[in-house]
Amino acid sequence: MEKIRYFDHAATTAVKEEVLKEMLPFFNIEYGNSSSLYSIGRRAKKAIEKAREKVANAINCNSKEIYFTGCGSESDNLAIKGIAYAQKEKGNHIITSKIEHPAILNSCKTLEKEGFNVTYLNVDNDGLIDLKDLENSITNKTILISIMFANNEIGTIEPIEQIGKIAKKHNIIFHTDSVQAIGNVKIDVKKMNIDLLSLSAHKFYGPKGIGALYIKSGINCNRLQDGGHQEKNMRAGTENVAGIVGLGKAIEISHNNLEKYNKKLQELRDYYVLQVQQKIPHIKINGHQTKRLPGNSNISFEYVEGEALLLNLDMNGICASSGSACSSGNSNPSHVLLAIGLPSKLAQGALRITFGDENTKEDVDYLIKTLEEIVPKLRNVPLETLPTRT
Ligand SMILES: *Cc1c(COP(=O)(O)O)cnc(C)c1O
Repeated sequence: MEKIRYFDHAATTAVKEEVLKEMLPFFNIEYGNSSSLYSIGRRAKKAIEKAREKVANAINCNSKEIYFTGCGSESDNLAIKGIAYAQKEKGNHIITSKIEHPAILNSCKTLEKEGFNVTYLNVDNDGLIDLKDLENSITNKTILISIMFANNEIGTIEPIEQIGKIAKKHNIIFHTDSVQAIGNVKIDVKKMNIDLLSLSAHKFYGPKGIGALYIKSGINCNRLQDGGHQEKNMRAGTENVAGIVGLGKAIEISHNNLEKYNKKLQELRDYYVLQVQQKIPHIKINGHQTKRLPGNSNISFEYVEGEALLLNLDMNGICASSGSACSSGNSNPSHVLLAIGLPSKLAQGALRITFGDENTKEDVDYLIKTLEEIVPKLRNVPLETLPTRT
């Protein structure tokens, strides 16, 4: 079989060898339940606490403020619903944005059915929220602001530090879904006034099915799952020890290599975008030019159907995404691309390429060569006859 060239790191990443190696003993050798008092149970507990410290170190908080969950989506649910239920005596208003991940948007929809009011902030053509708009949306009933750190489709990085300042000034709890940002951008919850933060291991070369939520100490958040007293009573269920150990190792590696990794991805991404600009006419680059994740590119190919593009790339051994993986198999234009004002035709021709550690310049050359071949075919009309978009 042909070599697979993987350009979908925003969807998921491969577990790193070093991460896997640290995880393996916890499946069948150090398999104790961390709530047990005998030695293999205590060692599992110790491994969990070591991982917790690594997470805390990566975002500059105390390890007591880290709670392990089953995934990024669970962290988002816990943050949004847990805060809403705990703070409902104070108010019933939540502010978020139109471009959040479905884990946030659908948690908000559930709360709306229960009587909460939610403001979904607009974003501009680059995907940025407007800080004045945010401040104007605050009422004396507002209990939570939840704005994602970086968008998973277009890569735009929101003004998190300024949002934190506004939240603090009005004494409102601030949550950020940083699932895409962790491992790509430096995050300091103290400096940025972040009260809650979601992350997920499989987006930074850790295993799937393990996430974490940072909850600043002193903040009252309800648990959603009843059961035992694990995770300081916040998340019942016997801990996924191997997963937690993997998350800890993966976040440690990415934290230690942040700058180098960032630079590498940015070079690959910029090289790719420049080549597309030079070699393929009728394209539009989506997302903010500079305030964006280093490895993300999102480009609309006019007069091309995104799904057909993906299938043809796949036939050439290339993995990419048209919108977010969560909505693939559903050909509605992406809610994010519509929110930045793309006409649905352009939204449908969007190709998300997200670079990662194993990608090389040769991979990018192959990707460009393939696009140069298939895009004109899919357009199926002579370029000279295409109208020029204004
Ligand atoms: C992937 C992703 C999630 C969901 O994380 P899972 O661990 O897959 O549940 C949430 N938010 C954003 C921005 C993501 O990219």
